[in-house]
Amino acid sequence: MRDLGVRLKLNPVEEAVKGKRVIMVDDSIVRGTTSKKIVRMLREAGAAEVHMAVASPPTQYSCFYGIDTSAREELIAAKMDVEGIREFIGADSLHYLSLEGMYASANRDTVNFCAACFTGNYPIPIPDTGKTGKHSLEKTEGGC
Ligand code: SF4
Repeated sequence: MRDLGVRLKLNPVEEAVKGKRVIMVDDSIVRGTTSKKIVRMLREAGAAEVHMAVASPPTQYSCFYGIDTSAREELIAAKMDVEGIREFIGADSLHYLSLEGMYASANRDTVNFCAACFTGNYPIPIPDTGKTGKHSLEKTEGGC
């Protein structure tokens, strides 16, 4: 069903991509399965090369503050480095925005800006644990 959903939502226009070097841009890679499907669809449509640019650092940790993210064991960046993810999704290259680049783009300092899903440094105690700082807690039911 998810595969069908991707195909219903996204359809490469063959005339637009055939023989071209394509860069696909997304805000994040979570499990990597959707990116993998899109790369495959672009190749099937005749793209000569498929590169991917992600407008955030790798998502390595779950959010406990209300954003519905996956459990950590499902996050591909928690298990693989950038080269491993590139290989998994089948892209010719993969580029992430750096943490510094993200701060700069948001015009924020690093003190009052949560980036826990990228760094693991949770600024506010996590419900039911009281813990902050870098750790690898799995997301718990109702944790947000
Ligand atoms: S930046 Fe913080 S609040 Fe936003 S999704 Fe990541 S962990 Fe959650």
